[in-house]
Amino acid sequence: MEYEAVIGLEVHVQLNTKTKAFCSCPNIFGAPANTQTCPRCQAHPGTLPVLNNEMVLKTISAGLATNCTIQHVSRFNRKHYFYPDLPGYYQITQLDEPLCTNGFVNVNIINEDGSSYSKDIKLNRIHMEEDAGKLVHDDSGRPLSYVDLNRAGSCLIECVTEPDIATGEEAYQYLTELKKILQYIDVSDCNMEEGSLRCDANVSIRPKGQQELGTKTEVKNMNSFRNVRLAIDYEIKRQIKALGKGERIIQETRLYDAKENNTKSMRSKEGAADYRYFPDPDLPLVIVTKQEIENARKHLPELPAEKRRRFKESYDLPDQDIVVLTETPFIAQYYENAVKEYPKNPKKISNWIMVEVNAYLNTKVIDIKEFKPKATDIAELIRLIDENVISGKIAKDIFIDMCEEGKSPSQIIDEKGLKQVSDEGELISIIQGVLNNNASVVAEYKSGKEKSFGFLVGQAMKATKGQGNPAMINKILKDELNK
Ligand code: ADP
Ligand code: MG
Ligand code: ZN
Repeated sequence: MEYEAVIGLEVHVQLNTKTKAFCSCPNIFGAPANTQTCPRCQAHPGTLPVLNNEMVLKTISAGLATNCTIQHVSRFNRKHYFYPDLPGYYQITQLDEPLCTNGFVNVNIINEDGSSYSKDIKLNRIHMEEDAGKLVHDDSGRPLSYVDLNRAGSCLIECVTEPDIATGEEAYQYLTELKKILQYIDVSDCNMEEGSLRCDANVSIRPKGQQELGTKTEVKNMNSFRNVRLAIDYEIKRQIKALGKGERIIQETRLYDAKENNTKSMRSKEGAADYRYFPDPDLPLVIVTKQEIENARKHLPELPAEKRRRFKESYDLPDQDIVVLTETPFIAQYYENAVKEYPKNPKKISNWIMVEVNAYLNTKVIDIKEFKPKATDIAELIRLIDENVISGKIAKDIFIDMCEEGKSPSQIIDEKGLKQVSDEGELISIIQGVLNNNASVVAEYKSGKEKSFGFLVGQAMKATKGQGNPAMINKILKDELNK
């Protein structure tokens, strides 16, 4: 029997609001345990939640950026469960009346054979909820855990897709694009290592062509998009194998094990009824006016897909360049500032940012925002190469100085005397010197040994301390040798 997979993703994203969802505690990562708390986020009796408007606005942006309908009326519910880092024993979340509904994220999937297709991954909803605290396990081996409530009550959104994803690769591309969108609109840093983006994958299979969905399992514990893809691919194979052996798939939660690249059963899955959801009596309905939605729409920045389209049209770059240059709005802005300064060679500016700038940022583990050279200085450096004032090789040395000292290229060239030697008379006399000192090589060249020419070019380059104009050196050498 031939099967097809059906996948739905639930993505939790921590919003970068200034304060928590229902109290005024600061929302910051990495503070000493239990210093960012108040009676409300510790669920003391008699405290009441007050909705953070910034959370609503950021969720509306997320909804608009993913083509959702924003609901004028939405509601908070209580979802009850016991977990030691959830002090109230319930989480405030949204259930059947979420803020954002019916969206989609367009992704482009490249097949193994290089062909590609585009697909809209449908979003069922984006809803708001509060996060739980964190358990800190004793690392001395004692069976002890501590509770840190700094994160308790901070703002989360949950983005839930329809069961609309067919492969691990589609899931991977969806996550990549979703993260980019949320970073562009500045609602989250989406840092998976710090837990500000977490993804659960629901996976089922069904005979190809069948309408009805199969029984799903929910896979958790993936700490990278790559692992989400691996976990899904593994789980699909496992389910096909199980059905082949005549077993049944049971609805359960499974944990992905990255070391073994497999999934293991954790617990049977609760049904919605187990959570005893009911509307939170302490919070009013969330009312959003048409004007507020239009205002949010007006303030959306250019989104990744639009930016990629515009980069293609404006700068005529290969797709690979565009993906790198639009990775974040900050790199894109940097690139555009450089092109504005020196519009003659957008492709060379792209090469420099993709290769030299990115290599420097990666080695130093810094962000483009902390990068010293101004975009206009990079533009100037490239102009100086194009105008033969410096060679490409010397430009790389100058670039490192620019990164370390933050000086402009012309300043460094002046200080270090690095200008390319393009003075014909000067080059002729240097080259004549080289030929006199290498009479035997010259003789070899004249007797037909082509390779010797390269050696002489190298010697001439060395004699100019690497600053000779390479094209002129080549030409003058030929002329002198043919004399
Ligand atoms: P639950 O109540 O178990 O969390 P939901 O209906 O809220 O289930 O769906 C959670 C996620 O699982 C959604 O992304 C949804 O698209 C996906 N999903 C639902 N049914 C299936 C299925 N049979 N196979 C794969 N994914 C599914
Ligand atoms: Mg769920
Ligand atoms: Zn608080």
